[in-house]
Amino acid sequence: MSPATDRLPFSGWIDPPDEASPPLAGERECDVVVVGGGLTGMSAALRLDELGADVVLLESAFCGWGASSRNAGHLTPTIGGDPQLLATLFRKRAPELVRLADAAVHFAEAMIGSLGIECEYRPGGNVSAALSEGQMRRAEKIVGFLAGCGAEIEFVEGREAGLPHAFRGGILERAGGVLNPGLLTRRMRAAVESSDVSLHERSAVESIEAATGGVEVRTAAGVVRAERTLLATNAFARDMPFAPPRVVAPLYVTLAETEPIAPGRLEDAGWTSTKGLYTQHVILESYRQTKRGTVVFGSRLPQVPRGVLGARVPDPPIVADVVRGFHERFPSLRDVSAERAWGGFIAMTPSWLPVAGEAGRNVFYALGYNGHGLSQAPYLGTLMADRLASGETHDDLAVLWRDAPRYQPAPLFTGPALRLGWAIDRVSDRML
Ligand SMILES: Cc1cc2nc3c(=O)[nH]c(=O)nc-3n(C[C@H](O)[C@H](O)[C@H](O)COP(=O)(O)OP(=O)(O)OC[C@H]3O[C@@H](n4cnc5c(N)ncnc54)[C@H](O)[C@@H]3O)c2cc1C
Repeated sequence: MSPATDRLPFSGWIDPPDEASPPLAGERECDVVVVGGGLTGMSAALRLDELGADVVLLESAFCGWGASSRNAGHLTPTIGGDPQLLATLFRKRAPELVRLADAAVHFAEAMIGSLGIECEYRPGGNVSAALSEGQMRRAEKIVGFLAGCGAEIEFVEGREAGLPHAFRGGILERAGGVLNPGLLTRRMRAAVESSDVSLHERSAVESIEAATGGVEVRTAAGVVRAERTLLATNAFARDMPFAPPRVVAPLYVTLAETEPIAPGRLEDAGWTSTKGLYTQHVILESYRQTKRGTVVFGSRLPQVPRGVLGARVPDPPIVADVVRGFHERFPSLRDVSAERAWGGFIAMTPSWLPVAGEAGRNVFYALGYNGHGLSQAPYLGTLMADRLASGETHDDLAVLWRDAPRYQPAPLFTGPALRLGWAIDRVSDRML
């Protein structure tokens, strides 16, 4: 890591808003309280408002403070960990899950269009890219399986798809592309502010209890009584006594961004398309270009957070490791340094699938996107809103729905297991 790499406590995409909405104070009543103002919570609140419900949205910091503004911006239909896992663990349910994941991407694109959100979206898809011949053979097999499930994918050769020289080809997910997630959440926050949703930021929910006619949701300075509440707190659900026990295992993921790269140098490195890339490692690496002429990249070694999930900056050795990965994949750019780094919490689940359901009477939840929620969070937030308003469950929500859930521990998301995954990846790098 260069000493000049700025380690940010929030996001490299945008700054925090100048002003937050007033915290909840006193008592009030409404139809639905949405807890958490990320993509899940904001899309649910907007949809409920559109359907005529009286909605209160409570967010502990400001809308977009969590993963929604910090992510790498790959709008992708990846679901179920990685495609190999989908093929092995969920072979029977795979067609339904694939349908859900593709629908989520098209939904997010339509939402961006209908809200008029300018978020530097570049369609053209993403590639789960192979670095070796072995990975190419594996990719070809997976494409056969997923295409049979109806996925919008194809097997591509590296040159034909405009991938950097290190990548031989792989699985092109045609649906989706790359965008600036900071702009997306900032514009959604503006849409919430100009709607009839009652937005209260700096309002951390401390308790949710059953009450006559529904639930009572408390913050430090106020209480809302409502018929129902929706938990849209993703990784933060781990520490909430009102969320299902063990529903998510949070991991802290680090990203970095290069300094601006001189025009023509990415093309010289073979990257002639704007497709986003992720590797087929045990723990993926991701790479994507930005509108400001930089590359945002990261992952490699996620960390298990100790204590309460709050503000933090990336650790220097982890930043150094993701930068090493960038230089290995782009040897002609070894002189390009990382200007800044940041990170955020993703929510892994024991099944590697998102989860939705009713945690307790009138307490609903939609979360656990396993690092792929940029499209799935707004889609499931909206489907949950429809469910809360009408009582009817869309087929894509039904695939994930759990009443009275019991979640198992997730042994793969511990420090030693992650370090082992990282070590396997580094051995495989030497065999490329
Ligand atoms: C570094 C990184 C890279 C990623 N890259 C990608 C990618 O390229 N593509 C992709 O598809 N996905 C990616 N993801 C995942 C994606 O960002 C998430 O799945 C998605 O944003 C989840 O949205 P959310 O609204 O459910 O959660 P969040 O955005 O985390 O929102 C949860 C909100 O709840 C609030 N909250 C917490 N506790 C309370 C409380 N007690 N009371 C009130 N509010 C509370 C938090 O402040 C937060 O704003 C990435 C994530 C990270 C961290």
